[in-house]
Amino acid sequence: MSATGEPSFRQSVDLMFNRAASLMDLPPGLEEKIRVCNATYTVRFGVRLRGEIRTFTGYRSVHSEHFEPAKGGIRYAPNVHQDEVEALAALMTYKCALVEAPFGGSKGGLCIDPRHYDDFELEQITRRFAYELIKRDMINPAQNVPAPDMGTGEKEMAIIADQYARMNTTDINGKACVTGKPPHAGGIRGRVEATGRGVEYALQEFFRHPDDVKTAGLSGTLDGKRVIVQGLGNVGYHAAKFLSIEDGCIVTHVIERDGFIMNPKGLNIDAVRDWITEHGGVKGYPEGEYHEEGLKGLEEECDILIPAAIEGVINMHNAHEIKAPLIIEAANGPLTAGADEILRHKGVVIIPDLYANAGGVTVSYFEWVKNLSHIRFGRMQRRQEEARHHLIVNELERLSADSGVGWQLSPDFKEKYLRGADELELVRSGLDDTMRAAYQSMREVWHTRNDVSDLRTAGFMVAVGRVAASYRAKGL
Ligand code: NAD
Repeated sequence: MSATGEPSFRQSVDLMFNRAASLMDLPPGLEEKIRVCNATYTVRFGVRLRGEIRTFTGYRSVHSEHFEPAKGGIRYAPNVHQDEVEALAALMTYKCALVEAPFGGSKGGLCIDPRHYDDFELEQITRRFAYELIKRDMINPAQNVPAPDMGTGEKEMAIIADQYARMNTTDINGKACVTGKPPHAGGIRGRVEATGRGVEYALQEFFRHPDDVKTAGLSGTLDGKRVIVQGLGNVGYHAAKFLSIEDGCIVTHVIERDGFIMNPKGLNIDAVRDWITEHGGVKGYPEGEYHEEGLKGLEEECDILIPAAIEGVINMHNAHEIKAPLIIEAANGPLTAGADEILRHKGVVIIPDLYANAGGVTVSYFEWVKNLSHIRFGRMQRRQEEARHHLIVNELERLSADSGVGWQLSPDFKEKYLRGADELELVRSGLDDTMRAAYQSMREVWHTRNDVSDLRTAGFMVAVGRVAASYRAKGL
Protein backbone atom coordinates (compact mmCIF):
# COMPACT_ATOMS: atom_id res chain seq x y z
CA MET A 1 0.00 0.00 0.00
CA SER A 2 1.15 3.55 -0.69
CA ALA A 3 0.94 6.45 1.73
CA THR A 4 -2.47 7.37 0.27
CA GLY A 5 -3.86 3.94 1.22
CA GLU A 6 -3.93 2.88 -2.42
CA PRO A 7 -2.00 0.00 -3.95
CA SER A 8 1.69 0.76 -4.50
CA PHE A 9 2.94 1.73 -7.96
CA ARG A 10 3.99 -1.85 -8.71
CA GLN A 11 0.69 -3.25 -7.47
CA SER A 12 -1.08 -0.65 -9.58
CA VAL A 13 0.76 -1.83 -12.70
CA ASP A 14 -0.03 -5.44 -11.75
CA LEU A 15 -3.74 -4.58 -11.37
CA MET A 16 -3.74 -3.08 -14.85
CA PHE A 17 -1.96 -6.17 -16.14
CA ASN A 18 -4.49 -8.44 -14.39
CA ARG A 19 -7.42 -6.61 -15.92
CA ALA A 20 -6.02 -7.22 -19.39
CA ALA A 21 -4.89 -10.79 -18.65
CA SER A 22 -8.38 -11.70 -17.38
CA LEU A 23 -9.69 -10.98 -20.89
CA MET A 24 -7.05 -13.13 -22.55
CA ASP A 25 -6.68 -16.83 -22.83
CA LEU A 26 -3.31 -17.32 -21.17
CA PRO A 27 -2.34 -20.42 -19.18
CA PRO A 28 -2.16 -19.29 -15.51
CA GLY A 29 1.52 -20.29 -15.25
CA LEU A 30 2.48 -18.16 -18.23
CA GLU A 31 0.43 -15.23 -16.93
CA GLU A 32 2.34 -15.38 -13.64
CA LYS A 33 5.68 -15.69 -15.44
CA ILE A 34 4.99 -12.56 -17.48
CA ARG A 35 3.75 -10.51 -14.51
CA VAL A 36 6.60 -11.09 -12.07
CA CYS A 37 9.84 -9.18 -12.06
CA ASN A 38 12.78 -11.51 -12.84
CA ALA A 39 15.42 -9.86 -10.67
CA THR A 40 16.27 -6.68 -8.82
CA TYR A 41 19.81 -5.86 -7.89
CA THR A 42 20.46 -3.40 -5.07
CA VAL A 43 23.83 -1.74 -4.82
CA ARG A 44 25.27 0.44 -2.09
CA PHE A 45 28.50 2.22 -2.82
CA GLY A 46 30.60 4.97 -1.32
CA VAL A 47 32.01 8.04 -3.02
CA ARG A 48 34.42 10.49 -1.41
CA LEU A 49 32.83 13.93 -1.72
CA ARG A 50 33.49 17.19 0.09
CA GLY A 51 36.03 15.54 2.40
CA GLU A 52 33.82 12.63 3.52
CA ILE A 53 32.57 9.31 2.23
CA ARG A 54 28.92 9.36 1.19
CA THR A 55 27.01 6.14 0.65
CA PHE A 56 24.46 5.90 -2.17
CA THR A 57 21.82 3.26 -2.86
CA GLY A 58 20.92 2.27 -6.40
CA TYR A 59 18.79 -0.36 -8.12
CA ARG A 60 18.67 -2.12 -11.45
CA SER A 61 15.64 -4.25 -12.02
CA VAL A 62 15.03 -6.69 -14.88
CA HIS A 63 11.38 -7.46 -15.38
CA SER A 64 11.65 -9.69 -18.42
CA GLU A 65 14.28 -11.21 -20.68
CA HIS A 66 12.05 -12.68 -23.36
CA PHE A 67 14.12 -10.46 -25.62
CA GLU A 68 17.62 -9.31 -24.79
CA PRO A 69 18.96 -6.82 -24.09
CA ALA A 70 16.53 -5.64 -21.45
CA LYS A 71 15.94 -1.90 -21.85
CA GLY A 72 14.96 0.87 -19.50
CA GLY A 73 16.04 4.20 -18.13
CA ILE A 74 17.99 5.17 -15.03
CA ARG A 75 16.26 7.62 -12.73
CA TYR A 76 17.93 9.95 -10.22
CA ALA A 77 15.47 10.96 -7.50
CA PRO A 78 15.64 11.12 -3.71
CA ASN A 79 12.74 8.74 -3.12
CA VAL A 80 13.62 5.98 -5.60
CA HIS A 81 12.86 2.57 -4.13
CA GLN A 82 12.60 -1.05 -5.19
CA ASP A 83 8.82 -1.07 -5.69
CA GLU A 84 9.01 1.93 -8.00
CA VAL A 85 11.92 0.56 -10.05
CA GLU A 86 10.13 -2.79 -10.46
CA ALA A 87 6.91 -1.05 -11.56
CA LEU A 88 8.85 0.98 -14.11
CA ALA A 89 10.70 -2.13 -15.34
CA ALA A 90 7.37 -3.93 -15.86
CA LEU A 91 6.03 -0.96 -17.80
CA MET A 92 9.14 -1.13 -20.00
CA THR A 93 8.36 -4.75 -20.90
CA TYR A 94 4.84 -3.85 -22.04
CA LYS A 95 5.95 -0.61 -23.71
CA CYS A 96 8.66 -2.30 -25.79
CA ALA A 97 6.23 -5.03 -26.84
CA LEU A 98 3.58 -2.49 -27.83
CA VAL A 99 5.93 -0.51 -30.07
CA GLU A 100 7.69 -3.65 -31.31
CA ALA A 101 11.12 -2.72 -29.98
CA PRO A 102 12.88 -6.08 -29.54
CA PHE A 103 13.79 -5.67 -25.89
CA GLY A 104 12.95 -7.05 -22.48
CA GLY A 105 11.99 -4.61 -19.74
CA SER A 106 14.37 -3.12 -17.21
CA LYS A 107 14.78 0.02 -15.10
CA GLY A 108 17.29 1.57 -12.76
CA GLY A 109 17.27 4.17 -10.06
CA LEU A 110 19.64 5.97 -7.76
CA CYS A 111 18.47 7.60 -4.52
CA ILE A 112 19.87 11.06 -5.00
CA ASP A 113 18.66 14.59 -5.52
CA PRO A 114 20.89 15.64 -8.43
CA ARG A 115 20.20 19.31 -7.70
CA HIS A 116 22.34 19.00 -4.57
CA TYR A 117 25.52 18.10 -6.47
CA ASP A 118 27.70 19.90 -8.98
CA ASP A 119 28.69 18.47 -12.37
CA PHE A 120 31.99 17.06 -11.17
CA GLU A 121 30.39 15.34 -8.18
CA LEU A 122 27.61 13.91 -10.36
CA GLU A 123 30.24 12.51 -12.69
CA GLN A 124 32.02 10.77 -9.79
CA ILE A 125 28.75 9.31 -8.54
CA THR A 126 27.55 8.25 -12.00
CA ARG A 127 30.89 6.60 -12.81
CA ARG A 128 30.83 4.62 -9.61
CA PHE A 129 27.20 3.55 -10.04
CA ALA A 130 27.96 2.54 -13.64
CA TYR A 131 31.06 0.62 -12.50
CA GLU A 132 28.99 -1.40 -10.03
CA LEU A 133 26.40 -2.26 -12.68
CA ILE A 134 28.86 -2.90 -15.55
CA LYS A 135 30.97 -5.38 -13.61
CA ARG A 136 27.83 -7.46 -13.04
CA ASP A 137 26.65 -7.21 -16.68
CA MET A 138 23.74 -5.05 -15.55
CA ILE A 139 24.94 -2.65 -18.24
CA ASN A 140 25.95 -4.41 -21.43
CA PRO A 141 25.05 -3.92 -25.12
CA ALA A 142 23.77 -7.49 -25.37
CA GLN A 143 22.06 -7.82 -22.01
CA ASN A 144 20.97 -4.59 -20.39
CA VAL A 145 20.91 -1.15 -21.96
CA PRO A 146 19.93 1.88 -19.86
CA ALA A 147 18.70 5.27 -21.08
CA PRO A 148 17.79 8.62 -19.48
CA ASP A 149 14.81 9.02 -17.19
CA MET A 150 13.82 11.56 -14.57
CA GLY A 151 16.86 13.43 -13.25
CA THR A 152 19.27 12.05 -15.88
CA GLY A 153 20.08 13.06 -19.43
CA GLU A 154 22.70 13.03 -22.16
CA LYS A 155 25.53 13.92 -19.78
CA GLU A 156 25.01 10.91 -17.52
CA MET A 157 24.58 8.59 -20.51
CA ALA A 158 27.87 9.79 -22.03
CA ILE A 159 29.62 9.10 -18.70
CA ILE A 160 28.12 5.59 -18.52
CA ALA A 161 29.28 4.87 -22.10
CA ASP A 162 32.76 6.12 -21.27
CA GLN A 163 32.92 4.04 -18.10
CA TYR A 164 31.87 0.95 -20.07
CA ALA A 165 34.57 1.67 -22.67
CA ARG A 166 37.22 1.95 -19.93
CA MET A 167 36.21 -1.44 -18.51
CA ASN A 168 35.73 -3.19 -21.89
CA THR A 169 38.44 -1.77 -24.06
CA THR A 170 38.05 -4.29 -26.92
CA ASP A 171 34.26 -4.40 -27.15
CA ILE A 172 33.64 -2.99 -30.61
CA ASN A 173 29.91 -2.65 -29.84
CA GLY A 174 30.53 -0.90 -26.54
CA LYS A 175 28.69 2.30 -27.48
CA ALA A 176 25.46 0.31 -27.67
CA CYS A 177 25.67 -0.30 -23.89
CA VAL A 178 23.53 2.79 -23.23
CA THR A 179 21.25 5.04 -25.28
CA GLY A 180 20.35 8.69 -24.97
CA LYS A 181 23.98 9.71 -25.47
CA PRO A 182 24.69 13.07 -27.12
CA PRO A 183 25.34 12.77 -30.90
CA HIS A 184 29.05 13.55 -30.45
CA ALA A 185 29.37 10.56 -28.09
CA GLY A 186 27.65 8.04 -30.35
CA GLY A 187 24.06 9.16 -29.84
CA ILE A 188 21.43 9.78 -32.46
CA ARG A 189 19.79 13.02 -33.52
CA GLY A 190 16.27 13.42 -32.21
CA ARG A 191 16.71 11.32 -29.04
CA VAL A 192 16.63 14.20 -26.54
CA GLU A 193 13.17 15.29 -27.65
CA ALA A 194 11.95 11.80 -28.64
CA THR A 195 9.58 11.17 -25.74
CA GLY A 196 7.93 14.59 -26.02
CA ARG A 197 7.82 14.22 -29.80
CA GLY A 198 6.19 10.82 -29.31
CA VAL A 199 3.52 12.41 -27.11
CA GLU A 200 2.82 14.86 -29.92
CA TYR A 201 2.65 12.07 -32.53
CA ALA A 202 0.36 10.06 -30.24
CA LEU A 203 -2.06 12.98 -29.98
CA GLN A 204 -1.87 13.63 -33.72
CA GLU A 205 -2.79 9.99 -34.35
CA PHE A 206 -5.63 10.13 -31.82
CA PHE A 207 -7.06 13.21 -33.57
CA ARG A 208 -6.90 11.40 -36.93
CA HIS A 209 -9.81 9.27 -35.68
CA PRO A 210 -12.95 11.42 -35.30
CA ASP A 211 -14.79 8.55 -33.52
CA ASP A 212 -12.13 8.42 -30.83
CA VAL A 213 -12.11 12.20 -30.48
CA LYS A 214 -15.88 12.09 -30.08
CA THR A 215 -15.59 9.44 -27.36
CA ALA A 216 -13.61 12.01 -25.39
CA GLY A 217 -16.37 14.57 -25.93
CA LEU A 218 -14.11 16.63 -28.17
CA SER A 219 -14.24 17.53 -31.85
CA GLY A 220 -12.01 18.89 -34.60
CA THR A 221 -8.24 18.84 -34.61
CA LEU A 222 -5.50 19.67 -32.13
CA ASP A 223 -5.64 23.29 -33.29
CA GLY A 224 -6.94 25.51 -30.50
CA LYS A 225 -7.13 22.76 -27.86
CA ARG A 226 -6.42 23.98 -24.33
CA VAL A 227 -3.68 22.00 -22.64
CA ILE A 228 -2.42 21.63 -19.06
CA VAL A 229 1.10 20.25 -18.61
CA GLN A 230 2.54 19.01 -15.34
CA GLY A 231 6.34 18.90 -15.25
CA LEU A 232 8.34 21.01 -17.68
CA GLY A 233 11.32 18.65 -17.76
CA ASN A 234 12.59 16.73 -20.75
CA VAL A 235 9.27 15.09 -21.67
CA GLY A 236 6.84 17.85 -20.65
CA TYR A 237 8.87 20.67 -22.16
CA HIS A 238 9.24 19.07 -25.58
CA ALA A 239 5.63 17.87 -25.71
CA ALA A 240 4.31 21.31 -24.71
CA LYS A 241 6.64 23.12 -27.08
CA PHE A 242 5.82 21.01 -30.14
CA LEU A 243 2.07 21.02 -29.43
CA SER A 244 1.97 24.79 -29.06
CA ILE A 245 4.31 25.70 -31.91
CA GLU A 246 3.43 23.04 -34.48
CA ASP A 247 -0.13 21.95 -33.71
CA GLY A 248 -1.79 25.16 -32.58
CA CYS A 249 -2.52 23.98 -29.02
CA ILE A 250 -2.83 26.60 -26.29
CA VAL A 251 -0.89 25.60 -23.19
CA THR A 252 -2.86 27.43 -20.52
CA HIS A 253 -1.25 25.89 -17.40
CA VAL A 254 2.21 24.70 -16.44
CA ILE A 255 2.46 22.87 -13.12
CA GLU A 256 5.85 22.53 -11.46
CA ARG A 257 7.16 21.52 -8.03
CA ASP A 258 6.54 24.97 -6.54
CA GLY A 259 3.01 25.55 -7.87
CA PHE A 260 1.40 26.35 -11.19
CA ILE A 261 1.07 29.30 -13.54
CA MET A 262 -1.92 30.00 -15.71
CA ASN A 263 -2.58 32.17 -18.72
CA PRO A 264 -5.80 31.57 -20.67
CA LYS A 265 -4.22 33.08 -23.79
CA GLY A 266 -1.44 30.52 -23.72
CA LEU A 267 2.03 30.37 -22.17
CA ASN A 268 5.26 30.77 -24.11
CA ILE A 269 6.87 27.43 -23.29
CA ASP A 270 10.47 28.45 -24.02
CA ALA A 271 10.09 31.56 -21.89
CA VAL A 272 8.62 29.52 -19.00
CA ARG A 273 11.40 26.96 -19.28
CA ASP A 274 14.06 29.72 -19.22
CA TRP A 275 12.35 31.21 -16.16
CA ILE A 276 12.39 27.84 -14.35
CA THR A 277 16.06 27.31 -15.20
CA GLU A 278 16.95 30.72 -13.81
CA HIS A 279 14.64 30.85 -10.78
CA GLY A 280 14.17 27.19 -9.87
CA GLY A 281 10.38 27.24 -10.29
CA VAL A 282 7.44 28.93 -11.97
CA LYS A 283 6.76 31.43 -9.18
CA GLY A 284 7.11 35.03 -10.32
CA TYR A 285 6.85 34.26 -14.04
CA PRO A 286 5.55 37.58 -15.33
CA GLU A 287 3.17 36.38 -18.07
CA GLY A 288 1.01 34.10 -15.92
CA GLU A 289 -1.03 34.00 -12.76
CA TYR A 290 0.75 32.03 -10.03
CA HIS A 291 -0.93 29.55 -7.64
CA GLU A 292 0.99 27.87 -4.88
CA GLU A 293 -0.92 24.60 -4.71
CA GLY A 294 0.47 22.77 -7.73
CA LEU A 295 -1.79 19.71 -7.61
CA LYS A 296 -4.86 21.92 -7.90
CA GLY A 297 -3.66 22.81 -11.39
CA LEU A 298 -4.54 19.28 -12.48
CA GLU A 299 -8.17 20.00 -11.64
CA GLU A 300 -8.53 23.05 -13.88
CA GLU A 301 -10.69 23.11 -17.03
CA CYS A 302 -8.92 22.07 -20.24
CA ASP A 303 -9.26 19.83 -23.29
CA ILE A 304 -6.10 17.80 -22.79
CA LEU A 305 -4.26 17.08 -19.53
CA ILE A 306 -0.62 16.00 -19.84
CA PRO A 307 0.91 14.75 -16.58
CA ALA A 308 4.63 14.59 -17.43
CA ALA A 309 6.32 14.58 -14.02
CA ILE A 310 5.98 11.68 -11.59
CA GLU A 311 3.76 8.74 -10.73
CA GLY A 312 0.60 8.72 -8.64
CA VAL A 313 -0.28 12.42 -9.00
CA ILE A 314 -3.85 11.56 -9.99
CA ASN A 315 -5.18 9.20 -7.36
CA MET A 316 -8.38 8.32 -5.55
CA HIS A 317 -8.25 11.62 -3.64
CA ASN A 318 -8.37 13.96 -6.62
CA ALA A 319 -9.64 11.83 -9.54
CA HIS A 320 -13.23 12.99 -9.01
CA GLU A 321 -12.10 16.60 -9.41
CA ILE A 322 -10.35 16.13 -12.75
CA LYS A 323 -12.20 18.00 -15.51
CA ALA A 324 -10.10 17.07 -18.53
CA PRO A 325 -11.99 14.85 -21.00
CA LEU A 326 -8.70 13.55 -22.43
CA ILE A 327 -5.58 12.62 -20.46
CA ILE A 328 -2.33 11.55 -22.06
CA GLU A 329 0.10 9.91 -19.64
CA ALA A 330 3.43 11.38 -20.67
CA ALA A 331 4.93 10.35 -17.32
CA ASN A 332 5.05 6.74 -16.19
CA GLY A 333 2.17 5.83 -13.90
CA PRO A 334 0.73 9.32 -13.23
CA LEU A 335 -2.68 7.71 -12.61
CA THR A 336 -3.08 5.10 -9.90
CA ALA A 337 -5.22 2.06 -10.71
CA GLY A 338 -7.96 3.55 -8.47
CA ALA A 339 -7.92 6.88 -10.30
CA ASP A 340 -7.94 5.07 -13.62
CA GLU A 341 -11.14 3.30 -12.66
CA ILE A 342 -12.86 6.48 -11.43
CA LEU A 343 -11.94 8.38 -14.58
CA ARG A 344 -12.93 5.57 -16.91
CA HIS A 345 -16.36 5.49 -15.31
CA LYS A 346 -16.61 9.24 -15.81
CA GLY A 347 -15.99 8.68 -19.54
CA VAL A 348 -12.56 10.28 -19.61
CA VAL A 349 -10.38 8.93 -22.40
CA ILE A 350 -6.91 8.01 -21.15
CA ILE A 351 -4.04 7.51 -23.59
CA PRO A 352 -1.90 5.23 -21.44
CA ASP A 353 1.78 5.59 -20.50
CA LEU A 354 2.88 2.32 -22.06
CA TYR A 355 1.97 3.89 -25.40
CA ALA A 356 2.11 7.64 -24.79
CA ASN A 357 5.72 7.90 -23.65
CA ALA A 358 7.13 5.10 -25.81
CA GLY A 359 8.81 7.61 -28.14
CA GLY A 360 11.91 7.56 -25.95
CA VAL A 361 12.51 3.84 -26.16
CA THR A 362 11.61 3.82 -29.84
CA VAL A 363 14.39 6.28 -30.70
CA SER A 364 16.67 4.50 -28.22
CA TYR A 365 16.10 1.40 -30.33
CA PHE A 366 17.23 3.34 -33.42
CA GLU A 367 20.30 4.55 -31.52
CA TRP A 368 21.19 1.02 -30.42
CA VAL A 369 20.87 -0.23 -34.02
CA LYS A 370 23.00 2.70 -35.21
CA ASN A 371 25.70 1.83 -32.66
CA LEU A 372 25.71 -1.83 -33.65
CA SER A 373 25.81 -1.04 -37.37
CA HIS A 374 28.50 1.61 -36.85
CA ILE A 375 27.00 3.90 -39.47
CA ARG A 376 24.70 6.91 -39.38
CA PHE A 377 21.22 6.37 -40.79
CA GLY A 378 20.94 7.80 -44.31
CA ARG A 379 24.67 8.08 -44.91
CA MET A 380 24.69 5.66 -47.85
CA GLN A 381 21.41 6.66 -49.49
CA ARG A 382 20.98 10.40 -49.00
CA ARG A 383 22.89 11.76 -52.02
CA GLN A 384 21.76 8.93 -54.27
CA GLU A 385 18.16 9.72 -53.34
CA GLU A 386 18.77 13.38 -54.11
CA ALA A 387 20.30 12.50 -57.51
CA ARG A 388 17.24 10.42 -58.46
CA HIS A 389 14.89 13.22 -57.43
CA HIS A 390 16.93 15.65 -59.53
CA LEU A 391 16.48 13.34 -62.52
CA ILE A 392 12.69 13.41 -62.15
CA VAL A 393 12.50 17.16 -61.60
CA ASN A 394 14.78 17.87 -64.57
CA GLU A 395 12.72 15.55 -66.77
CA LEU A 396 9.44 17.17 -65.69
CA GLU A 397 10.83 20.61 -66.44
CA ARG A 398 12.11 19.45 -69.82
CA LEU A 399 8.72 17.91 -70.73
CA SER A 400 6.92 21.05 -69.62
CA ALA A 401 9.22 23.27 -71.73
CA ASP A 402 9.17 20.98 -74.80
CA SER A 403 5.39 20.66 -74.82
CA GLY A 404 4.95 24.39 -74.38
CA VAL A 405 2.70 23.91 -71.31
CA GLY A 406 5.03 26.08 -69.26
CA TRP A 407 4.39 24.47 -65.87
CA GLN A 408 6.75 25.58 -63.17
CA LEU A 409 7.50 23.58 -60.04
CA SER A 410 7.35 25.91 -57.06
CA PRO A 411 10.75 26.60 -55.48
CA ASP A 412 9.39 25.43 -52.11
CA PHE A 413 8.30 22.08 -53.56
CA LYS A 414 11.62 21.65 -55.32
CA GLU A 415 13.59 22.46 -52.22
CA LYS A 416 11.67 19.95 -50.12
CA TYR A 417 11.45 17.22 -52.75
CA LEU A 418 15.07 17.34 -53.81
CA ARG A 419 16.51 17.09 -50.34
CA GLY A 420 17.47 13.55 -49.30
CA ALA A 421 16.46 12.55 -45.78
CA ASP A 422 19.09 13.05 -43.10
CA GLU A 423 19.33 11.21 -39.80
CA LEU A 424 16.90 13.49 -37.98
CA GLU A 425 14.24 13.20 -40.66
CA LEU A 426 14.60 9.42 -40.71
CA VAL A 427 14.34 9.26 -36.92
CA ARG A 428 11.17 11.37 -36.98
CA SER A 429 9.70 9.26 -39.75
CA GLY A 430 10.46 6.02 -37.89
CA LEU A 431 9.02 7.43 -34.68
CA ASP A 432 5.87 8.71 -36.34
CA ASP A 433 5.34 5.38 -38.07
CA THR A 434 5.85 3.51 -34.80
CA MET A 435 3.42 5.71 -32.87
CA ARG A 436 0.76 5.37 -35.58
CA ALA A 437 1.13 1.59 -35.84
CA ALA A 438 1.05 1.07 -32.08
CA TYR A 439 -2.05 3.24 -31.70
CA GLN A 440 -3.80 1.31 -34.44
CA SER A 441 -2.99 -2.01 -32.80
CA MET A 442 -4.51 -0.80 -29.48
CA ARG A 443 -7.43 0.82 -31.24
CA GLU A 444 -8.34 -2.34 -33.09
CA VAL A 445 -8.74 -4.21 -29.79
CA TRP A 446 -10.56 -1.24 -28.21
CA HIS A 447 -13.10 -1.10 -31.03
CA THR A 448 -13.54 -4.76 -31.87
CA ARG A 449 -13.91 -6.30 -28.41
CA ASN A 450 -17.11 -5.54 -26.53
CA ASP A 451 -15.45 -6.37 -23.23
CA VAL A 452 -12.65 -3.79 -23.72
CA SER A 453 -13.70 -0.26 -22.94
CA ASP A 454 -10.41 1.60 -22.70
CA LEU A 455 -7.10 2.07 -24.47
CA ARG A 456 -5.00 0.94 -21.50
CA THR A 457 -6.57 -2.50 -21.33
CA ALA A 458 -6.31 -2.75 -25.12
CA GLY A 459 -2.63 -1.70 -25.02
CA PHE A 460 -1.83 -4.21 -22.28
CA MET A 461 -3.60 -6.95 -24.22
CA VAL A 462 -1.59 -6.28 -27.37
CA ALA A 463 1.66 -6.10 -25.40
CA VAL A 464 1.04 -9.12 -23.18
CA GLY A 465 -0.07 -11.15 -26.21
CA ARG A 466 3.24 -10.41 -27.91
CA VAL A 467 5.32 -11.21 -24.81
CA ALA A 468 3.36 -14.46 -24.38
CA ALA A 469 3.98 -15.39 -28.02
CA SER A 470 7.70 -14.90 -27.62
CA TYR A 471 7.81 -16.98 -24.40
CA ARG A 472 5.85 -19.71 -26.20
CA ALA A 473 8.34 -19.63 -29.05
CA LYS A 474 11.04 -20.34 -26.47
CA GLY A 475 9.11 -23.42 -25.39
CA LEU A 476 7.65 -22.03 -22.15
P1 NAD B 1 12.90 15.40 -15.89
O1 NAD B 1 13.69 15.19 -14.66
O2 NAD B 1 13.58 15.93 -17.10
O3 NAD B 1 11.67 16.36 -15.61
C1 NAD B 1 10.73 16.17 -14.60
C2 NAD B 1 10.02 17.49 -14.39
O4 NAD B 1 8.93 17.31 -13.49
C3 NAD B 1 10.95 18.55 -13.79
O5 NAD B 1 10.72 19.79 -14.43
C4 NAD B 1 10.52 18.59 -12.33
O6 NAD B 1 10.75 19.85 -11.72
C5 NAD B 1 9.03 18.28 -12.45
N1 NAD B 1 8.47 17.71 -11.23
C6 NAD B 1 9.02 16.78 -10.41
N2 NAD B 1 8.20 16.51 -9.39
C7 NAD B 1 7.10 17.28 -9.58
C8 NAD B 1 5.89 17.45 -8.88
N3 NAD B 1 5.67 16.77 -7.76
N4 NAD B 1 4.98 18.31 -9.36
C9 NAD B 1 5.21 19.00 -10.50
N5 NAD B 1 6.34 18.88 -11.21
C10 NAD B 1 7.27 18.04 -10.76
O7 NAD B 1 12.20 13.99 -16.18
P2 NAD B 1 11.65 13.44 -17.56
O8 NAD B 1 12.75 12.68 -18.21
O9 NAD B 1 10.95 14.52 -18.30
O10 NAD B 1 10.60 12.36 -17.03
C11 NAD B 1 9.28 12.71 -16.64
C12 NAD B 1 8.42 11.46 -16.65
O11 NAD B 1 8.45 10.88 -17.96
C13 NAD B 1 8.84 10.35 -15.71
O12 NAD B 1 7.70 9.66 -15.25
C14 NAD B 1 9.66 9.43 -16.61
O13 NAD B 1 9.70 8.10 -16.11
C15 NAD B 1 8.86 9.53 -17.87
N6 NAD B 1 9.59 9.16 -19.08
C16 NAD B 1 10.74 9.79 -19.43
C17 NAD B 1 11.39 9.42 -20.60
C18 NAD B 1 12.62 10.14 -21.11
O14 NAD B 1 13.05 9.85 -22.24
N7 NAD B 1 13.22 11.06 -20.38
C19 NAD B 1 10.89 8.37 -21.38
C20 NAD B 1 9.71 7.74 -20.99
C21 NAD B 1 9.07 8.16 -19.85
